[in-house]
Amino acid sequence: MSSTSILHSQTRKMVSQTQEPNRRKEEEQSSRKWSLQDFDIGKPLGKGKFGRVYLAREKKSKYMVALKVIFKEQIEKYGLHNQLRREMEIQSSLSHPNVLRLFGWFHDGQRIFLILEYAHRGELYRELRKSGHLSEEQAATYFASLTRALAYCHNQYVIHRDIKPENLLLDFEGRLKIADFGWSVQSRSKRHTMCGTLDYLAPEMVENRAHDYAVDNWTLGVLCYEFLLGVPPFEAESQTDTFKRIMKVDLSFPPTSHVSAEAKNLINLLLVKDSTKRLSLQKIMKHPWIIKNANPTGTCMD
Ligand code: ATP
Ligand code: MG
Repeated sequence: MSSTSILHSQTRKMVSQTQEPNRRKEEEQSSRKWSLQDFDIGKPLGKGKFGRVYLAREKKSKYMVALKVIFKEQIEKYGLHNQLRREMEIQSSLSHPNVLRLFGWFHDGQRIFLILEYAHRGELYRELRKSGHLSEEQAATYFASLTRALAYCHNQYVIHRDIKPENLLLDFEGRLKIADFGWSVQSRSKRHTMCGTLDYLAPEMVENRAHDYAVDNWTLGVLCYEFLLGVPPFEAESQTDTFKRIMKVDLSFPPTSHVSAEAKNLINLLLVKDSTKRLSLQKIMKHPWIIKNANPTGTCMD
């Protein structure tokens, strides 16, 4: 059995455990399955709000993973127990090439450990900042992967609600992986909580109105703009000004930018105030900009 399949067979057990009705029992079982002794810990990969992420290797299979360490004290202090549970349940139930896998979790006295798929090339954000903006081919390839991943999530009734370059990771072949399901929600009805990151918020969230899957479609429009121009479309000096620009859909392309007419057309079809009129994920995949520019393998090398 390969190292991948060893970890995956463990994962399958954990995923099926999460579907059992008795949560406490399930938690006990998953914590019995893994412990810190099962891993060699390597370099830090990043810092989150409530802990750190480390490169780690499962000792038996030598399989490389990312271990996200979260301090229980912090979770209790901010009352985030339910949010974390939701992040873990949602992410472990999803399995798609463009969604970062959560293989399992365990805990000790002070910490909770999430065993995550390792994304070798880290944040897409870093790539974007390094080069200022992406080429149309790169942008369309990432964008198509993201759209496919969101279509999969929406099919499972999951709305991510916090899609931004920092939460998009890249594997060793430059394949995009959606990470960080901290704000996601699994729901068939409209939601009311205002969340997510300012620049990427849809007008209905800014205005605190009920929202649904279409918030992710809006964010796709914002990201497409940022991929191609290096800055999000409604950036402003203050939060209030960003809110105002979002509500007015104050969208413009600097005259000096070299964005193709097809890309502009796609962005205009997504950044639509009326959430019911935004281009659907299925139609995005058939848009000429995607057809012309996206690499069908979904990989992007430097
Ligand atoms: P925040 O809410 O501030 O984004 P967080 O607590 O949700 O933080 P993550 O976003 O999951 O934490 O992780 C923090 C950082 O660690 C990421 O932005 C990324 O740089 C790195 N990182 C996280 N997971 C992985 C992974 N699987 N592979 C490689 N790097 C990772
Ligand atoms: Mg994050």
